Amino acid sequence: MDHGESKATVNFIQEIINQDKKTNKYNGRIHLRFPPEPNGYLHIGHAKSICLNFGLAVKNGGLYNLRFDDTNPSKEDVEYIDSIIKDVRWLGFDWEDRLFYASDYFEKMYDYAVSLIKASKAYVCDLSPEEIRKYRGSFNEAGRESSYSSRTVEENLDLFKRMRAGEFADGSRVLRAKIDMSSPNLNMRDPVLYRILKATHHRTGDKWCIYPMYDYAHPLEDYYEKITHSVCTLEFEDHRPLYDWVLNALNLPDLPQQIEFARLNLTNTVMSKRKLRRLVEEGYVVGWDDPRMPTIAGLRRRGYTPEAIRNFCERIGVAKTNSVVDIRFLEHCIREDLNVRAPRTMAVLRPLKMVIDNYPGDMVEEMESENNPEDPTAGKRKIPFSQILYIEREDFCEDPPKKYFRLAPGREVRLKNAYIIKCEGFVRNEKTGEIKEVHCTYDPESKSGKPGAKRKVKGTLHWVSAEHALKAEVRLYDHLLLDQNEGAEEQEEEKDFIKQLNPNSLEVLVDCLVEPSLAGVACGSRYQFMRKGYFCVDPDSTSDKLVFNRIVSLRDTWDRILKAEKN
Ligand code: ATP
Ligand code: MG
Repeated sequence: MDHGESKATVNFIQEIINQDKKTNKYNGRIHLRFPPEPNGYLHIGHAKSICLNFGLAVKNGGLYNLRFDDTNPSKEDVEYIDSIIKDVRWLGFDWEDRLFYASDYFEKMYDYAVSLIKASKAYVCDLSPEEIRKYRGSFNEAGRESSYSSRTVEENLDLFKRMRAGEFADGSRVLRAKIDMSSPNLNMRDPVLYRILKATHHRTGDKWCIYPMYDYAHPLEDYYEKITHSVCTLEFEDHRPLYDWVLNALNLPDLPQQIEFARLNLTNTVMSKRKLRRLVEEGYVVGWDDPRMPTIAGLRRRGYTPEAIRNFCERIGVAKTNSVVDIRFLEHCIREDLNVRAPRTMAVLRPLKMVIDNYPGDMVEEMESENNPEDPTAGKRKIPFSQILYIEREDFCEDPPKKYFRLAPGREVRLKNAYIIKCEGFVRNEKTGEIKEVHCTYDPESKSGKPGAKRKVKGTLHWVSAEHALKAEVRLYDHLLLDQNEGAEEQEEEKDFIKQLNPNSLEVLVDCLVEPSLAGVACGSRYQFMRKGYFCVDPDSTSDKLVFNRIVSLRDTWDRILKAEKN
């Protein structure tokens, strides 16, 4: 497993760009693109690709395009287009007027296919998909020529035209490149360029019933847009000869070059659109933006910031071999970001009532508290304190184990920003035996500004005032998958990942109490709940009840891993 931070400091793609600048290839132009297929929501792996492509363009004074590779209408949808646009913008990128759709090039692509036929470099083949697969051979076995590969140019032109006109059924014919059925590279064994698919396209409607295949469409899309460096993931390495073949066969000038890098895999999650779609469609999550999903929409709803995601993508680096990054490194990046910018507040997730017996019942004090000790400009706020408070259930223990420095009978703790209190007793629920409330006394001299303020006690607890606190629901998340290695799914053969789903990936606490300063906070706002982690206001919040998602807990296992590695 890759422990996150990349050791390599030079990005090999930047080196290629440096070289191209030196030789004045492309006259010094640098132009990259991000080409998603609109068949699902973007995930953190796509974020990696976006940051890499767009980041390289920016660093090198070049341009970048957002392009929808919408060549397969059967799986694509405008919902996905809209979500992708929203997500890329949110990540912080602006493609200006350079938003493109592969479907805008269908006519040009068709014309180029006609040129290939005229040059005897493509033919219409009537073999069934099954036969094509069989004829292709394998690594050890050369392929067999299709009996249709000797069709005349005229016959091919006629059949291809009729394919476009809708005369033939889906799957009955394809247009294939005529390359080399004995090539050691299977992709070069007369690959399919066009197929018949009578599906309505989300942009071109029913205008087309033949659609170009990725390997044919992609190099042309890059060429039309004057892309210089066509960066993609490693699984396309074996397709590069075909990428080049298409452009060379058409005698096109100033060819873009395809460069491959290792895709991002993360532990404890899945990262293919197909699997993510399955989670959504079969109801394992509430939607593409479920805060447990590794989608951009999910991470945003969870409370991740674009800065943290960009930082993560930068720090994991660019590699030429596949690896799996520990998801805890992503969590470390958001923690680092929120530590400096999230205001601190107090929230009690599992409330236990506490009565301060010697505190006047009708008194309310405003306790002053720093909003963020890491940020001197964040200011201060006042938090009401009164006789009846709530503390965290786990912060009281009737019979404390060793090293338990919180509240227990006869013990003292400090209440954050307030007084030192001493536990004098507790009351049980007679039926259940559960502890119902804790009784304490407070030391009036222990408040900030008073002589006893400096008095030391071992524990400090957060609290809310019963009369003033707001009700809230808090959703705690854990990893989607139990298995760390499932992230390597792209390299491994399919296991049933559904069996690996973490049954405890979501815990909902409905009776939480938060300090009153949080009244009316906007959806998407992020806070540190002291001692509990970082939280983000969920869109499910209503005017009666706030809903918070836990982004991450405070404990940074990543820091521990780094320290252990150093020792
Ligand atoms: P998935 O395999 O997750 O379904 P995809 O590759 O089919 O994704 P595309 O929409 O074709 O999705 O991807 C758009 C771009 O994002 C491609 O250039 C692809 O190489 C890149 N990309 C996809 N997944 C990752 C990843 N995990 N890490 C880095 N780049 C990725
Ligand atoms: Mg793809």
